Amino acid sequence: MSTQRLYLEDPYLKSFEAEIMNIKFEDSKAYVILDRTAFYPTGGGQPNDTGRLEAENAVLTVTNVFEDDAGNVVHEGLLSGALHIGDYVKGFINWERRHRLMRMHTAAHILIKAVRIFFNMPVKCVSASKDLDKSRLDFQAPIRREMLPQIEGIANKIVDENRRIIVKYLEPNEAEIYLKKYDESLNLYMRKHELTGKVRIVEIENLYGVPCGGTHVKSTGEVGSIKLLKRMSKGKGIVRVEYTVEP
Ligand SMILES: [Zn+2]
Repeated sequence: MSTQRLYLEDPYLKSFEAEIMNIKFEDSKAYVILDRTAFYPTGGGQPNDTGRLEAENAVLTVTNVFEDDAGNVVHEGLLSGALHIGDYVKGFINWERRHRLMRMHTAAHILIKAVRIFFNMPVKCVSASKDLDKSRLDFQAPIRREMLPQIEGIANKIVDENRRIIVKYLEPNEAEIYLKKYDESLNLYMRKHELTGKVRIVEIENLYGVPCGGTHVKSTGEVGSIKLLKRMSKGKGIVRVEYTVEP
């Protein structure tokens, strides 16, 4: 069975205990697989968490986290001391980094909805990438520079409404029906829960729901104000919008 992902159930979990299922060494790096983890592996346009794994006489400084082919979460980093299969460790994630990425990720969902409200059309977002300083969304829509203030205004109104962010797990056929009301569909970003085969959906309450395996804040208010930085044409009708959230 692959790594249990604690961040899916509780994105506010900052520390946890786990058992080492596998450990490999390559060059100066160690690669650790745990039975459960709160570390988010790079994916869905959201960068990995960083932090550390601690045992009695060892510390792994986690600099990269990724998913392997078997669906396990791999913690990569520099090890001081010794760790073995079967050892128990305490994990600590770099919360400042993660929380900002959660705000950036929730801002992405808000902005997609804001662009749809602006055009009054289910505009497609074809790619998304979140980072600490600035993030970007690629839209299939004729967004012009002079539209940015208005789109930003719609997004910040959603922030001010302080809507709850709700996570639900639905059977694929239920999910398909549910997503239709938000002009979304499963084929775009399919993400099944490993244990139940259910689809994880992240909803801005009564506004916009989408399948997503990322980490989100509890409410739109927690995102803080959203600032659109610039737009550029990527060709073929795709427009990139860069944005950030307040410090
Ligand atoms: Zn998402």
